[in-house]
Amino acid sequence: MLVVFKVKLPKVEIATEMANALLVNSEFIQKIRDKDSFDMSTASPQVIADLIEASRLEMEIKLFYPTGENDLKYIKTFAFTNRKMPNILFLNLKKLNRTTESIAATIIHECIHVIDNAASEYTFGHGDNSSKGKGNTAPYWIGNLANKMLHANAAELVFDQEEDSSTDTIV
Ligand SMILES: [Zn+2]
Repeated sequence: MLVVFKVKLPKVEIATEMANALLVNSEFIQKIRDKDSFDMSTASPQVIADLIEASRLEMEIKLFYPTGENDLKYIKTFAFTNRKMPNILFLNLKKLNRTTESIAATIIHECIHVIDNAASEYTFGHGDNSSKGKGNTAPYWIGNLANKMLHANAAELVFDQEEDSSTDTIV
């Protein structure tokens, strides 16, 4: 799967690169494969890992700015997809004041929806839009995995530096 973003907006451009890198990251895919099961899913984590790896879908990110009355229901939404335009991720311009990693995790969450929508023999969504009790559904769990892995990578760099300095002290 490939995520495409054609607007000159560095934060989202970087988040898109992060998401694309994760989608082909073997550690990311393996962590999904190692999972026992997902709630609200007819596909095993192993099948979902295979679908992510095999997917040749392209998803384009478009930005939206909720203004009119019709958009009110989207004011609190980070992003949404629409079955009529299955390959477009609408990202809320008003919800970009957060880390790039968090935006990348949102993109991954929506990628799982796009892959779910394209896999007619399975379903692995999260029902309604309430996030309550959805942590073990595929889109939430995989989105959270992305968030943890992206933030952990930054922490790991700091850890390495600390380890170097303690080694210096011992020597
Ligand atoms: Zn969702």
